[in-house]
Amino acid sequence: MHEDVIVVGAGPVGLMLAAELRLAGVSPLILERLAEPAPQRKSRGVGPLAFEALQRRGLGERLAAHQPERTAEKARDHGSEKNHFAWIHKIDPSPRDEPDRRGALVWQPDLEAVLAEYAAELGIPVLRGHTVTAITQDDAAVTVTAETAGGRCERTAAYVVGCDGGRSTIRKLAGFDFPGTPPLMTARQARVEITDPDALPPSGRTAAGMLIHGPGMIGVFDFSPDQEEPHGPLTREELQASVRRVAGVDVTVTAMTDTSRFTDNARQVTTYRKGRVLLAGDAAHVHSPNGGQGLNLGLIDAVNLGWKLAAEIRGQAPPGLLDSYTAERHPAGAAVLHNTRAQSALMLPGPHTDALRDIVSDLMDIPEVNRYFGRMLGGLATRYSFPYTPPHAHPLIGRLCPDLTCVVTTGDGELRSARLSRFTITGPFVLLVPAGHPAIAAAAGWRDRLKVVPAAAIDHDQLSAALIRPDGAVAWASAPGRPCDIALMRTALHTWLGAPAASRPPGAAVV
Ligand SMILES: Cc1cc2nc3c(=O)[nH]c(=O)nc-3n(C[C@H](O)[C@H](O)[C@H](O)COP(=O)(O)OP(=O)(O)OC[C@H]3O[C@@H](n4cnc5c(N)ncnc54)[C@H](O)[C@@H]3O)c2cc1C
Repeated sequence: MHEDVIVVGAGPVGLMLAAELRLAGVSPLILERLAEPAPQRKSRGVGPLAFEALQRRGLGERLAAHQPERTAEKARDHGSEKNHFAWIHKIDPSPRDEPDRRGALVWQPDLEAVLAEYAAELGIPVLRGHTVTAITQDDAAVTVTAETAGGRCERTAAYVVGCDGGRSTIRKLAGFDFPGTPPLMTARQARVEITDPDALPPSGRTAAGMLIHGPGMIGVFDFSPDQEEPHGPLTREELQASVRRVAGVDVTVTAMTDTSRFTDNARQVTTYRKGRVLLAGDAAHVHSPNGGQGLNLGLIDAVNLGWKLAAEIRGQAPPGLLDSYTAERHPAGAAVLHNTRAQSALMLPGPHTDALRDIVSDLMDIPEVNRYFGRMLGGLATRYSFPYTPPHAHPLIGRLCPDLTCVVTTGDGELRSARLSRFTITGPFVLLVPAGHPAIAAAAGWRDRLKVVPAAAIDHDQLSAALIRPDGAVAWASAPGRPCDIALMRTALHTWLGAPAASRPPGAAVV
């Protein structure tokens, strides 16, 4: 066996997953087809959950560097700083009740560069120019075959995770079912120079789709039925033909960069694991980029899987831990496919959709409805269903935790304000409780796998104490002024960390 885990694909999800595995004490190897990182600017940002996941590992500041420029750029390209649903730009990017829970604007190549630097700092090997073409698995291991410029090579690992994007080779080789709905539209977009930009009608809906254009950029959402099956990189001719179908005008594109073509094909694997082969990110789910949700989904797949797979490999996983990855992440993916299908329906050409859009647009002016859309697109409505959660459990159990501000007791007994992310850089379980709280003694048997943070106060009206998993999911919580359910906390620790080590004294909590 060469490695613990082979991660196929050094896109954002593969890099994040490998880092999580490394932090959790196992050895990943990344195999990547491309010799150099892809320059294509697909995503222009990450949603709030993904940004919080990156903040938890200390990467927030590296990503925040270009925020003002990117905000102006987004406003120029989309005609609004607001987020959109089906290109109705009304969603407040900073919800009033949780203003800190917002995404970050960062172009995908910049995000990948930050993650590649982080992976290098963690000592993770990335073999570029390795195209995986075959896998075989048995009860003990998986063998991966890759084609390289120097010939064929084979590597063996305990597990393989396909983070190889929407056309995933691993998904196909391992025989995952990938049901879903075929595309209604093909979108084409690029930064362009056009000889006759004045010929274009204003951005908006047309009889065959939607046209979006601004200084030096054009995007066409083409619902015409008679399109050829697209293949290869987007060409000027193809873009011009699509503009003609959608906007009814002829334009001449003289230069073109940053091209992309995508559809609203919406598919998801039925399970994220087949034996020793797992999938994460676009390899497990594809959908239209409307609403900018792919990375919010894929990066949270990675952080959900990392610590679980590492525990399995270290032989410390309680029964069912690895399969809780599918149980938790499949519904999150299905919810995104669902809302992207709704967005496609709301973008269909025709007077009936025009009428429906007007109504949805009016509804979005109602603050509660606006908040509903924001939480849905940001993934903030995600709540994992844990096996031990009683019917009236604390409302934060199963949710991903924001970067809380706490008042913590330092080693010399002083009180200091600190963000939760200060304590999560290395990816531990965190027990956030006041010093001397009975939960600390109750968790003594897990102290070798748990960081106790003595928080005298938490700046959240629903929290006085919490147990937080490495992926940020709240495993247990207690509300101010309510009895603290220590038995439930111990059940949570058993569920996620397994049996306690032999009893030992609680020891002092150290910040
Ligand atoms: C135009 C556009 C705009 C988008 N905008 C947003 C947005 O604003 N916000 C958002 O969150 N998402 C957005 N997305 C979606 C986002 O880009 C994807 O969800 C994201 O790239 C998924 O990351 P990934 O790591 O799963 O896959 P990828 O980024 O596709 O990475 C997969 C990697 O695997 C490698 N690979 C593939 N096959 C093999 C093989 N056989 N062997 C070895 N390596 C292999 C590839 O070379 C690649 O490096 C957008 C997508 C598009 C197309």
